Amino acid sequence: MRFMSNQVIHKTVVVGSLQCNCAILICPKTLEAIIIDPGDEAEKIISHLDPGVTVKYLLHTHAHFDHIGGTAGVKLATHGMICLHQADEMIYKQLPMQGRMFGMEFKDAPPVEKFIEDNEELYFGEQKLEVLHTPGHSPGSVCFRLHGGEERVFSGDTLFRQSVGRSDLWGGDSSLLIRSIKSRLMTLDDELRVYPGHGPATRIGEEKRKNPFLS
Ligand SMILES: [Zn+2]
Ligand SMILES: [Zn+2]
Repeated sequence: MRFMSNQVIHKTVVVGSLQCNCAILICPKTLEAIIIDPGDEAEKIISHLDPGVTVKYLLHTHAHFDHIGGTAGVKLATHGMICLHQADEMIYKQLPMQGRMFGMEFKDAPPVEKFIEDNEELYFGEQKLEVLHTPGHSPGSVCFRLHGGEERVFSGDTLFRQSVGRSDLWGGDSSLLIRSIKSRLMTLDDELRVYPGHGPATRIGEEKRKNPFLS
């Protein structure tokens, strides 16, 4: 499977009881890939990886169970490097406790292998992804901005279409959440596509006009 264009291959796999949008991004030239938020149903995620695809990073927008519940299984199958912002490590280490609060059973998540930082650039094949630290939904919440070609941003549970993430869970902060969105996301280009951690995609300009939490 080789593609002439340099346009990234983007697959969305909806996983788990909370319907987390897991994103698979593949560089068409090198078939090097990243997976964002392998939240559950590891086997379903893995089934979307064609032969020849190698997974470089397992990235997490934050450490709530619905975004990290499938990390152990996907790690075993792909050996991608587990990445998280350090401010969410405490929550990451509490996966079994998080599950119990929501009536689900999880084993401990495998250790984080790389702490990602604000403005850090991550490469897979010829593709570049930038880390934007956007605390508020959780202390270590980040968004990922894909550069080049058709740019897009993966907003986790920070920004949804016409809504924002909740801030009543561990370390959440509602005023910080709104500040993060306004300073780091609403300053981006209006045409930029946004892929939230749950629900449909949107654009920055549409959220500027229609998101009731940002007026
Ligand atoms: Zn969350
Ligand atoms: Zn979520």
